[in-house]
Amino acid sequence: MSNNSFNHILNKSWLLFIISIFCAVAILIATNFFEPNRPSHTEVQHVEHLIDLERKYSIANILSAPNNNWQKRDRDLTSLGISNEVHWFRFTIENGPPTNSRLLEIDYPLLDSVNLWFTQDNKVLAQYTVGDSLVFAQRVIEHENFVFPVPTNGQPVDVYISAHTQGAMRLPLNIWQQEDYLEYTSKNSLLMGGFFGLMLAMGLSNLFFFITIRSPIFLMYTGYVIFIGLTLSAIQGLGYRYIWPNFPWLQQHAVGIFANLTVWLSIIFCDGLLNVIAFKPKLSKLLRTIAYAFIVGLIISLFIPLPVFLKAFLLILCVSELIVLAVVIWLWIKGLAIAGYYTLASAVLFLSGFAVSLDALDMINFSLPSYYLLMLGAGLETVLLALIMAISHNQQRQALHNTQAELLNKERQAQHAQKDMLALQENATEELEYKVQERTLELEIALRELSETNRELQEKNTLDALTGIRNRSYFDKKYQAEVRRSRREQTQLSIVMMDIDHFKRVNDQYGHLAGDECIKSVAHTLKKALKRPSDDVCRYGGEEFALILPNTDLEGALVLVEKLRDEIEKTSIQTEGVTINITISAGIGSAIADLNQAEDTILALADKQLYVAKDAGRNNVQGSHLDVIQHQDSP
Ligand code: GH3
Ligand code: MG
Ligand code: MG
Repeated sequence: MSNNSFNHILNKSWLLFIISIFCAVAILIATNFFEPNRPSHTEVQHVEHLIDLERKYSIANILSAPNNNWQKRDRDLTSLGISNEVHWFRFTIENGPPTNSRLLEIDYPLLDSVNLWFTQDNKVLAQYTVGDSLVFAQRVIEHENFVFPVPTNGQPVDVYISAHTQGAMRLPLNIWQQEDYLEYTSKNSLLMGGFFGLMLAMGLSNLFFFITIRSPIFLMYTGYVIFIGLTLSAIQGLGYRYIWPNFPWLQQHAVGIFANLTVWLSIIFCDGLLNVIAFKPKLSKLLRTIAYAFIVGLIISLFIPLPVFLKAFLLILCVSELIVLAVVIWLWIKGLAIAGYYTLASAVLFLSGFAVSLDALDMINFSLPSYYLLMLGAGLETVLLALIMAISHNQQRQALHNTQAELLNKERQAQHAQKDMLALQENATEELEYKVQERTLELEIALRELSETNRELQEKNTLDALTGIRNRSYFDKKYQAEVRRSRREQTQLSIVMMDIDHFKRVNDQYGHLAGDECIKSVAHTLKKALKRPSDDVCRYGGEEFALILPNTDLEGALVLVEKLRDEIEKTSIQTEGVTINITISAGIGSAIADLNQAEDTILALADKQLYVAKDAGRNNVQGSHLDVIQHQDSP
């Protein structure tokens, strides 16, 4: 905000600077031309005027033959209308002091050709041909106005002038003392320099604005200021003197070209600056059509006689300016503030143009040349338009700034919303992940517990409830596995079947509970005696036990089982207040398992040996080794 207001002040001081320069120039004009001691000059009085419709006169026949068509004109030499004829003028300059050199000035630089003769007693003293259809260097005194030295010999001098121009015919004549004219001219040059300097500065500065800001409105303004300056310089002869002195053709058409370009650009500029198209596209189109009509006017001005063109131009200009002013005032009423300023600016030029027209029509009378008024109007309008552009540009910039700020704000809000959403999403994801992890962990624990329980259950399933040693179902699986291992590794496998002798009697004699104790005792003894981790003792059923002895041949098994039988025989079982001694019988089957054997061969062999031991009187161990069965095809 502070930066902004700083720029605002800068803009204002820039404008103040321009306005104060302009005011200084305006004050300079005022002090120079309204001061009472103006450099003295004499307007030529008693001029006689003759219109040469058929172009039949020459200086010779004018001097030789008296003519009754001469008409006296005292005041209205400044407005002789727009015509294409040759105008003749004659008057007398009274004798002045012989030392003083005097100058005759025609204060109107747009005459196409002027022939001037100084005569005395019908003899030509000096003759000059000037005019803006001739190159500038031909002038006797190089000045934007036509200036001639008055011959000095103490006698009155008769002056004859024949003038022709395609534009408005005027012949404001002044007689000056040379020093006075020098003084006047230098002051006038200063003023002109100031005015055209201002126009050039405005044009250039806005050209730079255009280059930096790239808004075409600045270029239009630059063009407008340059062209209005060129138009005024063409009217005053300054353009011909300083800018295009070697191009009489351009001087002939300069007013037509530059005036058309000025009006064209002023309307285009107005359309662009007030952005008419945004309010009413049709009005904008109308303005543009009028503007381009002046480009057509420019082209036409090159081909038709200037008087015809000027009349048409001034008429169309009046109508067009009124339409433009109406549009601008309409926009003002519609609430466009800068249209109000624009009305003010164009009204200044309009009023000064109006005043100049009134002056030209002799309805009012200014004591200073009318183009000063036009310059004042143009200068004021130029400065006011610059002010309007600055205001408009500042408004646009402010609007742009506000829009940008709003956009930035919205973007920020959007970013915040996005961030919030992302955070929410992240939170949700984290929560989900956490929950999944939690569930996975719970599941893993449950699975582990389940497998543990399963294992425990399996373990329990393989144990015998009474003795705590492995049961029959375990034996069956283990037996199968060990037979396969023996077959694979070609190792000896011994299986032992044991049975408590006369157990029926123990039951009968001491009861089943004592019998159970005996079974437990035997199981305990067997379990304690087996040292190898690979050996297993199982309760096969009732009072029968089975041993699995992997990697054990028959001899080893016989030694082990014999030791077991001996230990059980020696063990006295104390239970229910009685001591019971029992014995066991055992049968051993040993073999290296073979593919040709049935799987239960070794078990069957052990079982058979158990019966052999029983038959041998009990408390006995029998064993048998099964040799590998030879294949039929082997020798
Ligand atoms: P032998 O084997 O020496 O030929 O004579 P035996 O008396 O032991 O004969 P058999 O093997 O036929 O008898 C087994 C008896 O064992 C039958 C049954 O009453 C008893 N028995 C089987 N299982 C159990 C058990 O778990 N507990 C008890 N107390 N007795 C059992
Ligand atoms: Mg039995
Ligand atoms: Mg038995």
